[in-house]
Amino acid sequence: MAKTTKDKKSSSKTSKKTKAESKPAAVDKKDIPQKTEKGTGVSIEQKLIALYNLQQIETQVDKIRIVRGELPLEVQDLEDEIAGLQTRISNYEAETENMKKQIKEKEMAIKDSDALIKKYEEQQKNVRNNREYDSLSKEIEFQTLEIQLAEKRINEYTDKLEKLKESVKQAEENLKERQQDLEAKKNELTEIVAETKKEEEAMVKKSQENQKYIEDRLLAAYKRIRENARNGLAVVQIERDACGGCFNKIPPQHQLDIRMHKKIIVCEYCGRILVDEAIGEAVNN
Ligand SMILES: [Zn+2]
Repeated sequence: MAKTTKDKKSSSKTSKKTKAESKPAAVDKKDIPQKTEKGTGVSIEQKLIALYNLQQIETQVDKIRIVRGELPLEVQDLEDEIAGLQTRISNYEAETENMKKQIKEKEMAIKDSDALIKKYEEQQKNVRNNREYDSLSKEIEFQTLEIQLAEKRINEYTDKLEKLKESVKQAEENLKERQQDLEAKKNELTEIVAETKKEEEAMVKKSQENQKYIEDRLLAAYKRIRENARNGLAVVQIERDACGGCFNKIPPQHQLDIRMHKKIIVCEYCGRILVDEAIGEAVNN
């Protein structure tokens, strides 16, 4: 009995810790006064908290989307490779058919030549003079050469056919492997999409929660800065007296103003909204 209680206690403690670490919490409702119009009655400090929180959430959504975004590209690459292999195989097959046709033509030519030789040999038995005999001999010699040439071609085409057969076999093995890879990638993609979709939806909902506390003009500014920032960061903390976005030093007076939480202050170099450690802690706790 005592053991069960203990287990329960420790497990709930663990899950609480994990949750706090993995996902930035939404602004605590009690920190935000009941609002009448969007953003009215919300202090600058609370807006800063909401903005920084929004930034943390959207950064996580960005990461989820990047992971998911690379898989479709891998799938596309495999599909392209498979299409290429299929084209190659059908080219090999067309060439194989052509070779077979050429071999048949040469075999027919040999038959024709054989028939002609037999006919000339018969005619030689009934010639009237040497000239006729020699002329027929020349014809026979010519047809014999034709047969030799055709046999040579048949040998060449047969070699080519062997090589084509080997190439088709190789390409088909490659194709099979790639198709298996594609199947695996597609399954992986489906799994990741399912896994991350839930997480993303929860994040988007939290981000919408935070947006309620920021007036439209400030929200539009945030979105514009985020779009223009290479790393998608529109709200950054002061880090070692410098802007956490562009790393330029922030003058002491400016830092004091930031710590006062009385105005929204942007970095004079990169235009990102700056917050101090206190806001960072408020969001992360
Ligand atoms: Zn900056």
